[in-house]
Amino acid sequence: MALRSNYDLMQNALEKRQAVPAFNIDNLESALAVAEVLRETGSPVIVQTIPRTLRYGGVSTYPALMRELMRGCDTDYAMHLDHGSSLALAAECIKAGFTSVMFDGSALSFSENIDKTREVTAMALPLGVSVEGELGAIGGKEEGDTDLEASYTKVDEAVKFVAETGVNALAIGVGTAHGVYKGTPHIRVDRIREIHDATSVQLVLHGASGLSDDVLRACIDAGICKINFATELRQAYTAGIRKALAADPDVFDPKLYMRTAIDEIKAVLRQKIAVCRGKKDE
Ligand SMILES: [Zn+2]
Repeated sequence: MALRSNYDLMQNALEKRQAVPAFNIDNLESALAVAEVLRETGSPVIVQTIPRTLRYGGVSTYPALMRELMRGCDTDYAMHLDHGSSLALAAECIKAGFTSVMFDGSALSFSENIDKTREVTAMALPLGVSVEGELGAIGGKEEGDTDLEASYTKVDEAVKFVAETGVNALAIGVGTAHGVYKGTPHIRVDRIREIHDATSVQLVLHGASGLSDDVLRACIDAGICKINFATELRQAYTAGIRKALAADPDVFDPKLYMRTAIDEIKAVLRQKIAVCRGKKDE
């Protein structure tokens, strides 16, 4: 079976000191790009969507799309809810075929985050669905967040959070931010290593678009085994459409100019897969 849980894919990667790249899809074209690269490379990836995407296209649309596009291909992939916002949405996603869900309670107090995340693990884990929590702050969504040190995930809190919630995976705040970086981010690789040494939880890096390959490799060496990519894929997609329309102002068939967009996304996917697999496989 090609559809697996995040946990299985990440555990495999961790044992090889690799990470599983997690790619956010928005529509048919980004799903096509991921499916084509899965077929070409045979390298497992996590396909994920945020709640805003599910409101855009429908909760059951994305797992159904991937199921159809992956028919006959035995490369492993997982279907993950990224930044899930409620127990109800997690349940709806699981019913629709998602194999992993995130509950992002990072905006809540520490104890509320534990309580809400535990509701999700209690529902999902018995069904074989893996759960990712979030602790600490990842930039790019908290308005006016300037207190960097306060945003880093604390080691003792991570230990307590994992023990009390039972999450398989944990997104941690180590200086990354969602979206486009304005300056050079300072990533606390030492903090990743400390949390990795103190817990057995699988660690996730959000806000990886724009980080250098060397920084990503250092994060993987320190214990990260899932890296999320969204912004760079959306940039590649839009750049591809702009390029195709500029090259042929008379084109009107979306299947023609979307092909360029798909190919632009695929180039980014291949490059991120190579980084996550590490130099020894290149
Ligand atoms: Zn994120």
